[in-house]
Formats: sequence, C-alpha cells, structure tokens
Amino acid sequence: MSSEHEPPVPAFARTFGLRIALWYATLFVSGAIAIVLVTYYLTAASLAQRDRQIINGKLGDYAAAYVRGGVRVLAATVRAEQQVAPERLFVRVVDRGVEAVVLSNPDGWDPSKLETVSATLDDGTLVQVGKSTEARDDLLARFRATLGMVTLVIVAVALTGGWLATRSALFPIRRLTLAVRRIIRTGRTDARVPLDGTGDAIDELTTLFNAMLDKIEGLVTAMRGALDNVSHDLRTPLTRLRGAAEMALASPPKGDSVQQAEHYRDVLADCVEESDRVLVMLNTLMDISEAESGTMQLRREAVPLAEIVARAIDLYRDVADAKGVTLSSSTPAGVVVTADRTRLEQVAANLIDNAVKYTPSGGRVDVDVLQDADAAVMRVGDTGPGIPADELPLIFDRLFRGDTSRTERGLGLGLSLVKAVVEAHGGTVEVSSELGRGSVFTVSLPLG
Ligand code: ADP
Repeated sequence: MSSEHEPPVPAFARTFGLRIALWYATLFVSGAIAIVLVTYYLTAASLAQRDRQIINGKLGDYAAAYVRGGVRVLAATVRAEQQVAPERLFVRVVDRGVEAVVLSNPDGWDPSKLETVSATLDDGTLVQVGKSTEARDDLLARFRATLGMVTLVIVAVALTGGWLATRSALFPIRRLTLAVRRIIRTGRTDARVPLDGTGDAIDELTTLFNAMLDKIEGLVTAMRGALDNVSHDLRTPLTRLRGAAEMALASPPKGDSVQQAEHYRDVLADCVEESDRVLVMLNTLMDISEAESGTMQLRREAVPLAEIVARAIDLYRDVADAKGVTLSSSTPAGVVVTADRTRLEQVAANLIDNAVKYTPSGGRVDVDVLQDADAAVMRVGDTGPGIPADELPLIFDRLFRGDTSRTERGLGLGLSLVKAVVEAHGGTVEVSSELGRGSVFTVSLPLG
C-alpha cells in the first residue's frame, strides 16, 4: 500500500528520468574530458618545444665557441655560463669519433631522462648538448593528477546536476501522472491538475488535460441527467400500466360475461396505449442518440422543401381546423435540399405539431419556405403564448417540457429530435420568441 502523500514514482518516469540524466551526464563528461585531454597535450607539447629551443640555442653557441678556440674555449664558456644560469645542461664533445670529452654532466642525473641534440662540425667533431626532462615530467605528472581530480569533480557535478535537472523537469509530468492515476482510481472526474503558472509546454498540456476533464465531466453529467430523466419519465406510464392491470385483476367486474369482456377490453386498450407511449419514447430517444452520434442512417436524396411542408401540413390540417387555428403556408418550388425525406418530414411535423398544439383558438400558424444566400430555410411561426426567456435555452434538451406546457400532451422529445436530425444533415435550428406574441422556429439546411 502506498500512502496518498508519498506516491511511488511511476516506472516510466524512473527509466525516462534516468535515461535523460545519463545522456546529459555522458555528454557533459565527454565534453569535459575532451577539453582536459586537449589542454594536457597542448601543454606537454609546448613544454617540449621550449626545451628543444633552449637546447638548439645552446648547441649553436657552443659550436661557435668550439670553432673559435677548441675544447678549451668551449669548456670555459660552459663553465662561465653554468655559474650564472640556474639550469645545468649536459655538454659533450666527441673528437672525430675517438676521444670523448664530457664538459658538463650535473650530478644525480638519470641518463635515461636526457634529451640530447648534436651537431657535427666541418672537421668532423660532434658537439652534443642535452637537457634533463625530469623537471618537465614532474610538472606534467602533477598537472595530470590535478586534471584527474578536476575530471572526477566534473563527473560528480554532471551526475548530480543531471539527476536534479531531470527530476525537476519531470516533476510536472509526475504530478500529471499522479492526478490521472487518482482520477482513474477514484472515478472522480471533478479532480483537476494544479497549474504551476509558468506557461510552458507542460502547463499547456495540463491546461488541455483539465479542459478534456471538463468536457468529459460535462458529458457524464449530461448523460446522468438524461438517464435520470428517462427513468423518471418511464416510471409514470409503466406505473399506470401496472396499476390498470392490477386493478382489473383485483376486482372482478360485475355484470354478465359480455359486460365483463367489455371491461377487460377497455383495460387492455389502456395498457396498449401506455405501452405505446413507452415505446414511442424509447424509439425517439434512440433516434436522437443515433442522430447525435452520427450513426443514424440517412437516405439522402434531392428533396424539394415544398413537398415536405405540404405533407406535414396535410397531417395537421384537421387538428388545426378543429382547434380553430389558421394553418397556412408559402412554399415556393425550387428550394431543394439533399436530405432524408422521412426524417425531414418528421422535423416539419414536429415543429407544426408544437405550433398548432401551443397556439390557442383563433391564432395562426404560418409555414414558409425560402432560399437564403446559401441555405434552404423552413420557418414555422405561430401566434401562441411564446416561450419564457429562462426556458429558451432548455427547450432543445431531451425530456424538457415548459412549465405551462404540461397540460398538453407530449414527451419533451420533439424539439430534441428536430435539432438532432437537422444537425445530422449539417443544418441549424434557431428559435425566437416573444411572450404573449408567439414563436418562430427557423431551420436552415445546406442547399442540395
Ligand atoms: P413537448 O412534447 O413538450 O412539446 P418539445 O420538445 O416539442 O416537447 O418542446 C419542448 C418545450 O418547448 C415544450 O414543452 C414547450 O414548453 C416549448 N415549446 C415548443 N414549441 C413551442 C411553441 N411553438 N410555442 C410555445 N412553446 C413551445
């Protein structure tokens, strides 16, 4: 079990962080080592070059002294020089390959660490000057030791620095990972990852992640709400259905067998009616879901809007007449859309149904078809009660029914279906309404 406060570092961050740290350290250390090596070799080469210059200079001087006065003058020169110069050189003269005279050979010199240069004079005499490399070697050895220490420090700094840098770079990712993990574990979508406000890439990712959570939360809430509404709305017809059947079973009807059969027939008819209500509701809900998710099968064809409106008006002509509502239309031919004819008829029928239903006797319902710049428009206007401003944003929601509309028949699904189907066709539906004066629903569809 891991505690909430000290959560384990996720494996990916461990290996990822380690990899970055190692990369960083390797680059840093190899760069540093390259610089150290170059410095060392340049120093060593320049020291060697300086020694050779000294030896060559002396060799020239001594050869000149020998030419001037033979071994005697050369010996005097060497002695005189070595009294003032702190650095003692090895000097030897070999006379035509037979007699060797060593003029200077300081004590305690290791002959293996002697760097010599010789010059052969015209008479065949060899003058040789040497210099010990001991001091130089000693200096370089100490330089090497120092460089070794410096390199060790660099490696240590690189490793610690790399570790610290990747740790701090990975910290926001770790926080994000932990937040995601917490959300998955608790199933709570209201948790959010805190921003550190630097505005960097990680901050942007966090913002996007939080926005995604907002969206998911919104969808889940909407789905829960819809499910609650559906359950609630299904309960009423189902309870009524059950009540009717139960009543019929509990109290056997009086009268003769014909009367009894009549009674049972009535109860069964009620039951069928209630089941139809449930079925219509479920079918409509499924249609809306399909249209919204884009899985609704649309048999698209070129359809003149005038035909659609004419058929829907035919359906409601009698209802409107009976209610005393004038139903009229202005539908020029030639406004054609590419759409599913049946679905579009459903849209027109639902809008006209609402308009006739909510408009009181003596009112009017006008259906117009017209062509906008690049859209086919169908407008259903009525002189009904209008829709209160606070209800306007809700009327397209599933199962929403206006406060004053509850006395009318309806499921609160008509406008949801209209919107879903119109949007599945790439169109839009808008409403404008004025209380006490009426409402206008405008459907715009892309021209076919
Ligand atoms: P319902 O089955 O209640 O008619 P709808 O989804 O078709 O469901 O409409 C949702 C709500 O919008 C209605 O309950 C009503 O309050 C309001 N509404 C829709 N059309 C009109 C209209 N033409 N005039 C006034 N109110 C309307």
